Amino acid sequence: MRPGVGGRYAAVMATVDRLPAHRTHEVTNQPPPLQGYDLFGEDTVLRESVAREGGEWGLERLGAFGRTVGGEPLRLGPLADRNPPVLRTHDRFGHRVDEVEFHPAWTSLLRLGIEAGIPSLPWREPRPGAHVVRGALLMMLSQAESGVSCPLSMTYAAIPAIRHAPELAASWEPRLVDPDPDRSALCGMAMTEKQGGSDVRANTSRAERTADGYLLTGHKWFCSHPACDAFLVLAHAPGGLSCFLLPRLLPDGERNNFFIQRLKDKLGTRALASSEVEFDGAMAWLVGDEGRGLSTILEMVNHTRLDCVLGSAAGMRRAVAEATHHAAYRSAFGARLIEQPLMTNVLADLCVESEAATLLAIRLARAFEPGAEPAFQRVATAVAKYWVCKRATPLVAEALECLGGNGFVEESPMPRLYRDSPLNSIWEGSGNVIALDVLRALARDPGTADALFDEVALASGADERIDSALAAAKETVARQATRPPGDVEYVARRVAEKLGVLLQASLVVRHSPPAVAEAFLATRLSRGGGLAFGTLPRGIDCDSIVDRHRPRMVK
Ligand SMILES: Cc1cc2nc3c(=O)[nH]c(=O)nc-3n(C[C@H](O)[C@H](O)[C@H](O)COP(=O)(O)OP(=O)(O)OC[C@H]3O[C@@H](n4cnc5c(N)ncnc54)[C@H](O)[C@@H]3O)c2cc1C
Repeated sequence: MRPGVGGRYAAVMATVDRLPAHRTHEVTNQPPPLQGYDLFGEDTVLRESVAREGGEWGLERLGAFGRTVGGEPLRLGPLADRNPPVLRTHDRFGHRVDEVEFHPAWTSLLRLGIEAGIPSLPWREPRPGAHVVRGALLMMLSQAESGVSCPLSMTYAAIPAIRHAPELAASWEPRLVDPDPDRSALCGMAMTEKQGGSDVRANTSRAERTADGYLLTGHKWFCSHPACDAFLVLAHAPGGLSCFLLPRLLPDGERNNFFIQRLKDKLGTRALASSEVEFDGAMAWLVGDEGRGLSTILEMVNHTRLDCVLGSAAGMRRAVAEATHHAAYRSAFGARLIEQPLMTNVLADLCVESEAATLLAIRLARAFEPGAEPAFQRVATAVAKYWVCKRATPLVAEALECLGGNGFVEESPMPRLYRDSPLNSIWEGSGNVIALDVLRALARDPGTADALFDEVALASGADERIDSALAAAKETVARQATRPPGDVEYVARRVAEKLGVLLQASLVVRHSPPAVAEAFLATRLSRGGGLAFGTLPRGIDCDSIVDRHRPRMVK
């Protein structure tokens, strides 16, 4: 050491010691992370909806699940997302293995969902309200990780389709509904091919009859969670497009000729493995009749469409929870954001949209009680799938902005919510296809439109705006019957949107506090607001709306 250096060092250190600790790193005006909160207890709208729609007996179970999901799973979701699955096609000796490796966080969340009964509850405990309680379970787990709901949802949805083949159902159903993750099985679906997803009649996969079943040859362009134990797939049999159950392992334990080509590099739901697969003479068994594949698999699709609605409502709820929480803690210009008039307008508008989405999603779940209200279920599924899923992305984008720059940073939950949000609108029928399905449902049987309008009419007399919107909707639907097909298709989104808003209006007027109902009617039904969120008119009690939706942490 040169002479004098030691002395100067000591002098500098003495100065540093006199400085206040971490002078450049004081953290103020940042909210605590929204963790350790009760996802059910703090979600007034979900609790009220479940109780009203027949799920009162499940409130305790849901409360326990809400407290569980609000803890560790909220941390596991992002961990799974940051550690996406990896495909191993071959072992080190060159044998095909077709295995997907998942991060333990994903596996924990999947097991949690199986144990809670998300794939199985209504099939194991077929009592009124079972689809509602199960819908609420799905909504909560989705808020921790939305991708994990995909295999859980597909398994739930596969049951009614597999029941078209009683022998297969007898051997598969006990495992599919088993809540023990070590014994249970999962079922996926594979319809989409390279040349056509919406138009599955364009499928080129072929099924050749054999003495034992069928041999399938072809490919599928999207097959989510290829680690499932079985898949419902479409292929052309001699009698036409048919539905098959294709297991990954054959009854003798050998691997089926089911090959995973690659995993998709996706915008969102990155923890969920979505793959491209090929069948090279894969063994499969017919479900339903040959040539009736589409109507058989539609039983499954209908149930997964319900889950798209529940999943979108869940994403909206999580976004609103984060936005209202942030605004309650963050101050700017001398006041908390939640107290600033314009921010309360934005937050209340988001809360209203989220509330309407939850109300419709849980009401729709009740319509899935077997045989309860088939006409309403048919049309309301399409209407809600179109409208609720369509609203998710703009809502999440606006909620993200409530967090300012923090909302744009990957450490916050908002970017993941944002990336995940468009999926439900694409999967199981993209927006246009679903809007056209709304028209198809209405045209096929006049009783279907009546079922929808009867539900809306339960709010008749409560508010003149609903009465006149209902009359206008009836006229619009009647008019479609007289129009040429091209004309009808052209306006399909307008019709689907109007019906979605009308259905939600009827629900909020009957079940939400007056402030929420008034905000909804004034802006969604009467178009008294602007195009962006945060344009509620004067006179709305925004504070009470936000207070209803803001979660409080328990620790
Ligand atoms: C993450 C993810 C996971 C998926 N998992 C699975 C899975 O497990 N199994 C599976 O089978 N599929 C799966 N899919 C595929 C998905 O269901 C399809 O992508 C979807 O059905 C659309 O089909 P497509 O991609 O072929 O688009 P296309 O059918 O080509 O449609 C493209 C666009 O055209 C529109 N369009 C289509 N027909 C019409 C029309 N007549 N009039 C006006 N517009 C029309 C559609 O609305 C869409 O906007 C998954 C997709 C994603 C993104």
